[in-house]
Amino acid sequence: MIKIYSTLTRQLEEFKTIEPSVVKWYNCGPTVNGLMHLGHARSAIAFDTIRRYLEYKEYKVEYVMNFTDIEDRVIEVAKQEQRAVLEVAEEYLSYFRRDMASLNLKEATVHPRAMLHINQMIEFIEGLIEKGYAYESGGDVYFDVRKFDEYGKLSNQKIDNILQEGTEDAKNPKKRFPADFALWKEKKEGEPYWFSPWGDGRVGWSIECSQMSMMYLGDTLDIHSGGQDLIFPHHENEIAQSEALTGKPFAKYWLHNGYVNIDKEKMSKSLGNFVNIVDLLQHYSPDAVRLFVLQTHYRSPITFTEDAIDQAQITSDRLFDVILLTKNYATDTTVDESALSDLDKDLLEKITKAREDFVNAMDEDFNTSNGFAVVFDYSREVNDYLRKADKINGAVINKADELFDEFRSVFGLYEDFNSYLSMDLVEKLVKLLVELRGEYRKEKNWEMSDKIRDELKQAGVTLEDNPKRILWKLSEN
Ligand SMILES: [Zn+2]
Repeated sequence: MIKIYSTLTRQLEEFKTIEPSVVKWYNCGPTVNGLMHLGHARSAIAFDTIRRYLEYKEYKVEYVMNFTDIEDRVIEVAKQEQRAVLEVAEEYLSYFRRDMASLNLKEATVHPRAMLHINQMIEFIEGLIEKGYAYESGGDVYFDVRKFDEYGKLSNQKIDNILQEGTEDAKNPKKRFPADFALWKEKKEGEPYWFSPWGDGRVGWSIECSQMSMMYLGDTLDIHSGGQDLIFPHHENEIAQSEALTGKPFAKYWLHNGYVNIDKEKMSKSLGNFVNIVDLLQHYSPDAVRLFVLQTHYRSPITFTEDAIDQAQITSDRLFDVILLTKNYATDTTVDESALSDLDKDLLEKITKAREDFVNAMDEDFNTSNGFAVVFDYSREVNDYLRKADKINGAVINKADELFDEFRSVFGLYEDFNSYLSMDLVEKLVKLLVELRGEYRKEKNWEMSDKIRDELKQAGVTLEDNPKRILWKLSEN
């Protein structure tokens, strides 16, 4: 049984989907106004892994993640760079997709973009006005928070307290009440705008996630997720808009990931102390970055230091080596129960135990930190077996390898393993043959040296005899 912590109830709950075995999940994606940094990556990796785990548990996950392409921050960058908003959004969106692929993040079922849903958002706002939850004022439209009794339930605050803290433009005279938030904003000079029943303008930020999540997943979602910084006002506003319109609960479970800190400051673009993924991947493997992120539970803060990511790289390389070794010795045969040594039996038990321990760890609010502890212990045990066994049982090791595959599928590690593995082997074998051929040539054994060259050529490897050394390459076809 999976237990999941929801920000809404502030406790662990039993995970039960609305529709059996189907998870309808909306994750707030990035605003595309800059390069993907470690803060974005942490959130994306954490939720990608939870999604992978739910798939491992045989749920069908309908995962929707938006790209916010029309918002204050995108417009600001466009102004600074003196470019069109759409052009800026397109560019950063393509970088995001590139970096997401590098980090082995699974594609969402749908990646909706706000700019393509403006008409549907206008209809959504019209619905709220009709129901008396929103009002037009001087070309803007605001949500009337006092009409929605439960406003503040996600961020656990009362309307009065929200007022004391003050929201962005609490003093805006167009509002009836300072905590009311914009659904539609009147056109501003030099900014993109759309036609609407209330005049030219553009949508407020939060309406896009309410509209797109409900359009693709239905009125009630199983999971809604995002960074902790989105709890208020973004997710609070989403709940108010959606529940006011439908009268139904908007999302069953609210998941929020913790921050990434550098020197204990929250890492975000606005603070300037961020690490871009494209730079990070110049020095570290995607697996090391994933491992670094997942060694901490998704709700806890992570402190980024160079030492910590260096260590993650070492740990990742070691784990890879054991898995590589395991793959080398695994045979595609069934275990012959009558021919097992004590060490074989012991390893089979450890495989079963490790799988159970892993599932128990992950079932507890997706505790990847404990999950990794299981993986590391397990890799030590497999490594011990490979070194100690008098005779390595390929069928038993194949079972061990299957469990490694399960771990890899959940954590999204070493995805291109098979291509790496085969290229690595090809390289070693070709090098060996090239060396042998060199020996034959020294002995002037032209028959053997030509035979090797011709056979390699047939296999698609061409050799080029240079005065200094023999170069080889795989032929195009
Ligand atoms: Zn959102």
